[in-house]
Amino acid sequence: MRKVGHRARVTDSLTAFARQKIDELTSVSLMRWLKPTARLEGAMVERDGRRLVSFSCNDYLGLSHHPKVKAAALRAIETYGVGSGASRLVTGDNPLIEELEAKLAALKGTEAACVFGSGYLANTGIIPTFAGSKDLILVDELAHACIWAGAKLSGAETLAFRHNDMADLAAKLAERRPHAQRALIATDGVFSMDGDLAPLDEISRLAQRHDAWLLSDDAHGLGVVGGGRGSAALFPDAKIDLQMGTLSKAVGGYGAYVCATKPAIDFLKTRARTVVYTTGLPPANAAAALAALEVIAGEPERVARPLALAQRLTAALGLPPAQSAVVPIILGEAETALAAARDLEAKGLLAAAIRPPTVPKGTSRLRLAFSAEHTEGQVDQLAEAVRPWLPA
Ligand SMILES: *Cc1c(COP(=O)(O)O)cnc(C)c1O
Repeated sequence: MRKVGHRARVTDSLTAFARQKIDELTSVSLMRWLKPTARLEGAMVERDGRRLVSFSCNDYLGLSHHPKVKAAALRAIETYGVGSGASRLVTGDNPLIEELEAKLAALKGTEAACVFGSGYLANTGIIPTFAGSKDLILVDELAHACIWAGAKLSGAETLAFRHNDMADLAAKLAERRPHAQRALIATDGVFSMDGDLAPLDEISRLAQRHDAWLLSDDAHGLGVVGGGRGSAALFPDAKIDLQMGTLSKAVGGYGAYVCATKPAIDFLKTRARTVVYTTGLPPANAAAALAALEVIAGEPERVARPLALAQRLTAALGLPPAQSAVVPIILGEAETALAAARDLEAKGLLAAAIRPPTVPKGTSRLRLAFSAEHTEGQVDQLAEAVRPWLPA
């Protein structure tokens, strides 16, 4: 055996493992490949040298390319550089982050806010900070993967309740709440792959009745529903203890936040592992988010547009009216969704096929996302391209 034999053998077995997994996934149409995509002005993208109208970006307001947002980010880079240099508790807490937190708290009507590096980091930090092994977490079955990841990291007993099913949630609370020290209910406010809303008022009532806390993830609500203030604004009576959301969708940049009472936020800032052990958000991202929130507050016509365009599509296709900027066209098998996406792409429209494990088995779909930058004509073109694929 050669001197490097052991090392080579380890590498080979890992490579063989990866290759076998790729073959398995490919055989059931579930392998996914990255495709370099340049996002251009408007709703256009360039891929493989072709320009396509994208219905797959979460940049619902086109703010990733807004001149005021870009200028704010550039100014911050000139002043502070590109990186934050350390975790927030050391030297990475740029003054722009504090300013952003104050703005987010004011927008959500809470005492305080905490900004995170991303939505995934937010939920995997927040949930284990407030729940541990003696506790119970109830999660809507269609909630985002990072809520599940946070619940798993917490070590709490974690149960799924059926999507938006209050009877199921009530039954599970009645059965399991007495055995837990504390309880947390977690849901998307606007569901990322389905575009529907959680009944936050009803969930909040159940939470209070069973002495449970409520976390809502409004990644797809902020900037789009509730006049731009997010899904909680549609349910003014709901008590939402932890209002989480991201800066990566309608806000157009990168990062995330949670709004809550000051003690809850102070505790997070000293204990959440994804605040303490990770580098602070780059100053330019905080500056971009601040500028984007100003555009959202100052341009109600822009904010109203993604939902109006989504409803234009659902009306054209005879589907139930869209509740957000996301409309799923559920096609069933992964292969069907891939074929539909290829057909649309041939017509100059980008609509990514979403397959398991992102969505449940048998519900592969085109997930259509609407932007203030789309024209009515582009939406009508999309409707005609999707029509032949609609299940009978
Ligand atoms: C996109 C998304 C996240 C993750 O946010 P990132 O900033 O992209 O990490 C979390 N929750 C929901 C519901 C999302 O759609």
